[in-house]
Amino acid sequence: MAGRGPVGVLALQGDFREHIAVLRSLGADAVGVRRPSELAEVSGLIIPGGESSVIDKLSRLFDLAAPLKRAIADGLPVWGTCAGLIMLADTVLDGIQGQQSLGGLDIAVRRNAFGSQLDSFETELDIPVLGEPSVHAVFIRAPIVESASTSVTTLAALPDGRVVAVEQNNLLGTSFHPEMTGDTRFHEYFLSKVTSQ
Ligand code: GLN
Repeated sequence: MAGRGPVGVLALQGDFREHIAVLRSLGADAVGVRRPSELAEVSGLIIPGGESSVIDKLSRLFDLAAPLKRAIADGLPVWGTCAGLIMLADTVLDGIQGQQSLGGLDIAVRRNAFGSQLDSFETELDIPVLGEPSVHAVFIRAPIVESASTSVTTLAALPDGRVVAVEQNNLLGTSFHPEMTGDTRFHEYFLSKVTSQ
């Protein structure tokens, strides 16, 4: 697929519009993806934040779950933010009953891992692949990567060691929301993965 075709953002639920706006601000051809025919055209895909149990249900209802799993296995660059990270995890802890993920990232994530006292917070993260300065990260009812296989690279962790950004081959996942802060470095990093595949 070699970087041909637009970059897609899964547009079933959540903050897909914000991701499309950031990608377009970087000069990328970005489109919302709601159907298998649209998925087939893209050279990379962002699964946005929102509510993973809803994105799961809608992806099955719209017959997108199976094509998404195939695309992930075939090496399509896919980046999941927050709920999207949950969708990419092989194992979901504290999902609602019957919740499924697409999988691909060999990790276990815990939904809503910060509990009700700390639903949302912002912090500075050192992310070596993005260089200096540190990244202002916004967490909203965020998941945590509780465990990961040795083939998964940690890109960022909180000061207490909890992992919040990972990469494994064609897949990227972040617990936080780079589309909300005006810092476009994570989107640029993803676009460089798309063009180099
Ligand atoms: N808590 C949400 C979920 O379980 C994720 C929140 C988010 O994407 N900001 O999907």
